[in-house]
Amino acid sequence: MKILAVSDEILDRLYNSRVTETYPDVRMLLGCGDLPYEYLEFLVTMYNVPLFYVPGNHDPRFSSNPRAHAEGGVNLDEKVVRVNGLLMAGLGGSNKYNPEGPNQYTQQEMFLRVYRLLPKIFLQTLLRGRRLDILLAHSPPNGIHDDDDQAHRGLHALNFLLRIAKPRFMLHGHTIFYSHNIKNHITNYYQTKVVNIYPFRVMDIDA
Ligand SMILES: [Zn+2]
Repeated sequence: MKILAVSDEILDRLYNSRVTETYPDVRMLLGCGDLPYEYLEFLVTMYNVPLFYVPGNHDPRFSSNPRAHAEGGVNLDEKVVRVNGLLMAGLGGSNKYNPEGPNQYTQQEMFLRVYRLLPKIFLQTLLRGRRLDILLAHSPPNGIHDDDDQAHRGLHALNFLLRIAKPRFMLHGHTIFYSHNIKNHITNYYQTKVVNIYPFRVMDIDA
């Protein structure tokens, strides 16, 4: 199944009326955060397929802003869904660097969010008898596609989540210009392919 995943940066080659000709046969849209919801809404209107996304550190806090969601899409933060034969979980946000900033978490806070998400993942993997296919995140894990500054340091809780839940793929955004690891946007970590989506990627994932 062809998936179009987007993150962090608006691209003219996607934000135009010929996008479905340029990238045909897309069956699902995934957003890894830090994108205006109008952009996601445009893509979902053009493709008319399911859209799932997680919030980034530049997105509004979900509860405090009525515009803080993309119409026609599902905010997958701390949720698990099965769609088109794929089991997917989401965990948005980045490492905390601004005490007032939305969707930012300390390393400890992120562990709490992972502890809340894990039982939902275990329940669904048991019920469906399959591995988690995709973990959708904004931040990278610690030490993978991340950087040393506070804002772009990867989250240890995501490494823990990958080791325990063993998804086939983890998709994230948030870092590209900062990465010392810039040539390497796909990294194998235990049983997971960690893929940096920033700014977009078309992937074929078998369901
Ligand atoms: Zn970000």
